[in-house]
Amino acid sequence: RSLEETLERLVADVPDFPEPGVGFKDITPLLADHAGFTQVVEALAAPARDTEGAVTVTKVLGMESRGFILGAPAAMQLGVGFVPVRKAGKLPRETHAVSYSLEYGEATLEIHTDAIAPGERVLVIDDVLATGGTAAATIELVERCGGVVVGVSVLLELGFLDPRSKLPGTPVHSLLVS
Ligand code: 5GP
Repeated sequence: RSLEETLERLVADVPDFPEPGVGFKDITPLLADHAGFTQVVEALAAPARDTEGAVTVTKVLGMESRGFILGAPAAMQLGVGFVPVRKAGKLPRETHAVSYSLEYGEATLEIHTDAIAPGERVLVIDDVLATGGTAAATIELVERCGGVVVGVSVLLELGFLDPRSKLPGTPVHSLLVS
């Protein structure tokens, strides 16, 4: 099956979640399908390879929570380590923190200060790119560590929210744009 077919079949559109008027993309049917999950993880990891197939990153990073589910198997497949970015207060050691604004209020994301060494090349993986705020904050966290984000790989980009305007200079790889 084509990637597009897989995503259309296995990502569910849930109207009015988490609140009235908002549509939510539910990836749990995809996760439950071994062939679909494998196909999607391989596609998300692909931007971390050159034309010969050699791996060009030293870490994969995923954001809490669905970025963990997609990013960890991608890191294993590429043969590199995985770095979690978490919501405030969850990481136990010294962190860098970046706050950004949501539709209502603020969110803070954190990374362990030693999670990425200066000069490391990082592929960022998440499920959905909506406003781009989460990805932009994550790029800033990697840069605070001295690392470089070589790309952001997502399953689905909500193009009508124009997330790329928040990510100037970072290549964005979306398996599907809606
Ligand atoms: P952003 O910061 O780009 O506005 O939102 C992206 C973050 O919110 C991602 O971490 C993503 O997991 C989550 N998110 C926003 N909308 C959706 C959605 O419709 N479905 C899913 N699965 N996650 C979403």
